[in-house]
Amino acid sequence: MADITYKNKINRIRTFALSLVFIGFIIMYVGLLFRDIEWLMLVFMILGTLSIVFSTVVYFWIGLLSTRAVQIICPNCEKPTKMLGRVDACMHCREPLTLDKDLEGKEFDESYNSKKKRH
Ligand SMILES: [Zn+2]
Repeated sequence: MADITYKNKINRIRTFALSLVFIGFIIMYVGLLFRDIEWLMLVFMILGTLSIVFSTVVYFWIGLLSTRAVQIICPNCEKPTKMLGRVDACMHCREPLTLDKDLEGKEFDESYNSKKKRH
């Protein structure tokens, strides 16, 4: 797990959403420490709620993204993985993947078409 530069995009966004939930709870917890100062506690509570709401939005966004993601079988670990864009990493083993080679015959988005790889 030393290679941080290559991480699956969907996984990365998911980690981000999850950390937002944690941050939200931490903010709310800090708010409880300021119980005596009502307005300050309220501010922390609102910020914490916003953070959690935002993470829900991000989760929805992941859902949208993964419907558009291309599902492929990783050549390295032979598990099905989803990739976003033309270059992404495997969700399981972080093998760098590219769509450029074996994409013939599959449906893909406009960035692929613009590369004039269609026959
Ligand atoms: Zn893999």
